[in-house]
Amino acid sequence: MEELVRLNREFEGAEPETILRWAVERYGDRLAMVTSFQPSGLVMLHMLREIAPELAILTLDTGLLFPETEALIDCWAGMYHLNLTRVTPTQTLTEQADAHGAALWERDPDQCCHLRKTIPLGDALRPFEAWITGVRRDQSTSRRETPLFRWDSKYDTVKIAPMAGWTESQVWTYIHAHHLPYNTLHDQGYTSIGCFPCTRAVAPGEDIRAGRWSGIGKTECGIHQNG
Ligand code: SF4
Repeated sequence: MEELVRLNREFEGAEPETILRWAVERYGDRLAMVTSFQPSGLVMLHMLREIAPELAILTLDTGLLFPETEALIDCWAGMYHLNLTRVTPTQTLTEQADAHGAALWERDPDQCCHLRKTIPLGDALRPFEAWITGVRRDQSTSRRETPLFRWDSKYDTVKIAPMAGWTESQVWTYIHAHHLPYNTLHDQGYTSIGCFPCTRAVAPGEDIRAGRWSGIGKTECGIHQNG
């Protein structure tokens, strides 16, 4: 914990690239990046091409991704030869429906996220000591205090958020400057993109994450709770 306090002090204001480089040197192959191929993640994947092209990349494949997201993942995986693992839930959608009823996301989205995201990620992170996330402070009120480094007690790992201090505008400037492929749904008003049953486009002036689980008071899937 003392080390994390020191690291947060030392790296506050540092470029994401600097933090990524440090994390790769510190943790080696005990480090993974978890991404849903949203803008912050794309920036880091691009930076990691030079720093650690073999880094383990995990993405949660709930079986409920938009076709546009699937296409983007395939595009990046092929273009940059990512060391990518699609993390899937234990149950298929049919098995989940048999066990818990159809369209669980409509009746109990917390349980649905638990089964399709939180538990599978825990299993996938078991071999790792630390993981990188694209979470940023400007994404929502609940993420405003996101530290660069924190102990993730849910997964017994160090969680690193190199993009925490970047803004939406910085991210898009980087993406356009480097001509990075991005999810075409962003051009249709989707500022944050998750599973299709739980994601809508947002209106101008709304929070970046206002389109996730809209209208039901849920703001996080559970993976980033308290983080
Ligand atoms: S985002 Fe929606 S569909 Fe996806 S796992 Fe969570 S509740 Fe289920």
